[in-house]
Amino acid sequence: MPEAWNTYLAERAATRRHAGRWRQRRTRRLSDGCRDFAGNDYLGLAGDPRLADAQAEGARRYGAGGRASHLVSGHLEVHEELEQRLAALTGRPAALLFSTGYMANLGALQALCDPDTRLFQDRLNHASLLDGARLAGARSRRFHHADLGDLERLLTRAPAEGRRLVVSDGVFSMDGDVADIAGLAAAARRHGAWLMVDDAHGLGVLGEAGDGCVGRAHGIDAVPVLVGTLGKALGSAGAFVAGSEALVEHLTQFARPYVYTTAQPPGVAAATLKALQLLEAEPERRSRLAMLIARFRREATTLGLPLAASTTPIQPLVLGESQRVMAWAAWLAERGIMVGAIREPTVPRGQARLRITLSAAHTDNELDALLDALADCKARETLAGAEASP
Ligand SMILES: *Cc1c(COP(=O)(O)O)cnc(C)c1O
Repeated sequence: MPEAWNTYLAERAATRRHAGRWRQRRTRRLSDGCRDFAGNDYLGLAGDPRLADAQAEGARRYGAGGRASHLVSGHLEVHEELEQRLAALTGRPAALLFSTGYMANLGALQALCDPDTRLFQDRLNHASLLDGARLAGARSRRFHHADLGDLERLLTRAPAEGRRLVVSDGVFSMDGDVADIAGLAAAARRHGAWLMVDDAHGLGVLGEAGDGCVGRAHGIDAVPVLVGTLGKALGSAGAFVAGSEALVEHLTQFARPYVYTTAQPPGVAAATLKALQLLEAEPERRSRLAMLIARFRREATTLGLPLAASTTPIQPLVLGESQRVMAWAAWLAERGIMVGAIREPTVPRGQARLRITLSAAHTDNELDALLDALADCKARETLAGAEASP
């Protein structure tokens, strides 16, 4: 019998390698000194010593671990305060803290949906939203990316009975484009559906106050279920679902990924509180980020690089074939530049891309180095093409 398992593992590995989909982790060492254009630390808060100090101080005060689940004895003042601050930031009556964004999405969908719920998801939604529907036993109908007409068509054709939920990313993680929140909200309202938005990449970056693409601009009537994550622009870890008191109470009762897990380590919550304070006190981080995005787009256009229509810190270069993406990523790595190399199945076939992300922490010199290296990739390719042709 154990042999059957070994055969199974070997076969799965072989198929994946054969398909060119094998994934590898790179262990980063502090001494590498590489330039990171692959992360989601958009405001440069993850490495800020003030967050580390707040985390250490929180751990000293409350302990390193969460000790128990929130419903047993793990819910501390620091968690409570964080939930209140997150609700205030996003202009909602209440918020519930989860350990990760993946769990927040699983929890919200599992608690809200059952097999009779009609779910409508953007085709490019994050994997955790699709997995949440599965956990709920609900079937997701997927509309073409950002296509309100297609959503409208699916909503019109859906059977009248059963509750309806429209689900979308706020900022699409592999494309960087922003969902039309007002359009989605209007479609949902016309068809008696609720709208849930996962603003993992918008929170901290978009909105007047870094409150995201939903935040205070779209209240709970437009977006009753708002998810935000804390491990991206806020430089910490965890996530939350914000909405009405009734929604948060419902999730507290029924969201299994909330109920059956240990509370977030209190030091992490303390670090997030510090990040929220810095978000408000240092708006220059967001203006610096906007400046870097504008400069990258201007100069990449001059270089003739295949920019996507994105105004966010996610700036993909869609190169097409996986091999091409892997070659460019390797050339960039030789020059100490780390970018995301995104292939199938994360994105559709033929749309493999370099996922370049910008951060307020990048220096002008680092951006120069990235643009130089990209120009070099292009030149190398032209050279290789010239050699290959007769
Ligand atoms: C990163 C991400 C998540 C998951 O959040 P984690 O806190 O990393 O688990 C969920 N949704 C979207 C859109 C994301 O980009």
